[in-house]
Amino acid sequence: MRSLVWFRSDLRSTDNTALFGATHAGRSDDGCVALFVISSEEWQRHDFAPVRVEFMLRNLAELSRSLAALNIPLQIVTADREKNVPLEVLKIATEHHCGSVHFNREYEIDEQARDTATTALLEADSISVHPYDDQTALAPGIVRTLEDRPFTVFTPFKKRWISTWLEQGGTPVLPAPTPQRTIPIQSSVVPSIVPGFVSQVDPSHWPAGEDSAKASLAEFTSQRLALYKSDRDFPAISGTSKASAYLASGVLSPRQCIAAAVAANRGAIDGPAPGPTHWISEIIWREFYVNVLCAFPRVCRHRAFKPATDRIRWSHDVALFDRWKTGTTGVPIVDAAMRQLNTTGWMHNRLRMVAAMYLSKDLFIDWRWGEKYFMQTLVDGFFASNNGGWQWSASTGTDAAPYFRIFNPVSQSRTYDPDGAFIRAYCPELKDLDNEAIHEPYSDKAGVPALMRSKLAYPEPVVDHRLARDRVIEAFKAIGTPVGG
Ligand code: FAD
Repeated sequence: MRSLVWFRSDLRSTDNTALFGATHAGRSDDGCVALFVISSEEWQRHDFAPVRVEFMLRNLAELSRSLAALNIPLQIVTADREKNVPLEVLKIATEHHCGSVHFNREYEIDEQARDTATTALLEADSISVHPYDDQTALAPGIVRTLEDRPFTVFTPFKKRWISTWLEQGGTPVLPAPTPQRTIPIQSSVVPSIVPGFVSQVDPSHWPAGEDSAKASLAEFTSQRLALYKSDRDFPAISGTSKASAYLASGVLSPRQCIAAAVAANRGAIDGPAPGPTHWISEIIWREFYVNVLCAFPRVCRHRAFKPATDRIRWSHDVALFDRWKTGTTGVPIVDAAMRQLNTTGWMHNRLRMVAAMYLSKDLFIDWRWGEKYFMQTLVDGFFASNNGGWQWSASTGTDAAPYFRIFNPVSQSRTYDPDGAFIRAYCPELKDLDNEAIHEPYSDKAGVPALMRSKLAYPEPVVDHRLARDRVIEAFKAIGTPVGG
């Protein structure tokens, strides 16, 4: 009997656990067939961004080519309704006489429900189902406290993650697959567009395919990783890897990323070089948030990680939310960040924190609105990290700081974009301001002459940071959250 490998957010042919399982299961007899289901209703409901779908399709085309070189035909089917996905998988499995179906797990509640329904349907037809943990380097749930509980704070999680990684001898990447014998099944044509997901982002920002992903990772580890710790917070510097889009669509695996960083770190997972060590730590943040999602599934249901903070009465001011979305709040660093997101589908991590903190703390708008908007625009939209990042920023999440965290966006701007280079790139209307005024054009300290101010095609700030800060602190105090420090 043949085996079927069902690709979802793991669009790669190397180091893919489900593909490895499927090719080994099918090798002895009839080979392996690959499947991808276009499920636009599900993608709409889960706020997939057009840029992300467009990127997925280009990666799918590259994957189809890589699979063809292994003689594995890729079947692409469309499920017109989300609830029909299990049936589509069954249809392909039976049409091609597959005795087993292999897939890498996705951990969000709806995705698990979809897989449970699919498994029941397949097993009722005597087709065996083989799910694998592949989205993280260490399977979710194995890194736990000494009391056998899930970690709720990052730093102890990271320590235990590293010791577990060492105990189990690392997370080696899988051997490269070898071609199977040809089977008489045609690959499907990969569509270049899915209705409802028309991206306005220039695709050249995001070269697709495993070769591009690996070349980008190699360039980062050889050229920029050494300086990562010092450069990573400055958005005007290309100091980070931009691996997130590849990781979200599964074009790269976390094991491949860790292997590259460990090699650059002379075989060590932790220390001595600060660049690789810090970068590995960021990959572990991703692992942490997947673990949080699995252990606390309420975060998939629009609930706060800290239940008490569900009592906060967030604002739902549509006009202010629009100003944030369109990058017209009058706070240059926030506006530049939002314009980077809107035009490229990506935002620098420091700015994600600044923009999220500004929406939830300064504008006091429901963090779930921001979380949703990010998913609707990010090429690297990844539920666990997006939800984790938003809840951290809104102080409803796993932040362990013993004080109430609130950024002053202008101080952040001065620290991380000192000469305003990033602001100038995305807010050209401010480009002629000096390095002081660019952070806060309308403040008296900036000293921008009245005539020049009146000619700036740039809005005044929509809120006063000090007043906004008092308001959010009062709101958190009112639900009994300690906000001192
Ligand atoms: P690098 O600095 O090169 O880091 C390498 C990898 O480590 C990243 O690709 C990513 O997989 C992981 N990583 C880095 N920082 C974090 C972090 N803080 N949390 C979890 N993983 C991390 N990341 C996403 O992949 N998808 C999202 O939808 C997403 N939404 C976010 C929303 C908010 C409000 C915040 C504060 C952060 C969010 N992040 C998200 C995390 C982080 O901002 C991005 O992973 C990072 O900016 C991607 O750029 P990079 O690949 O150059 O990162």
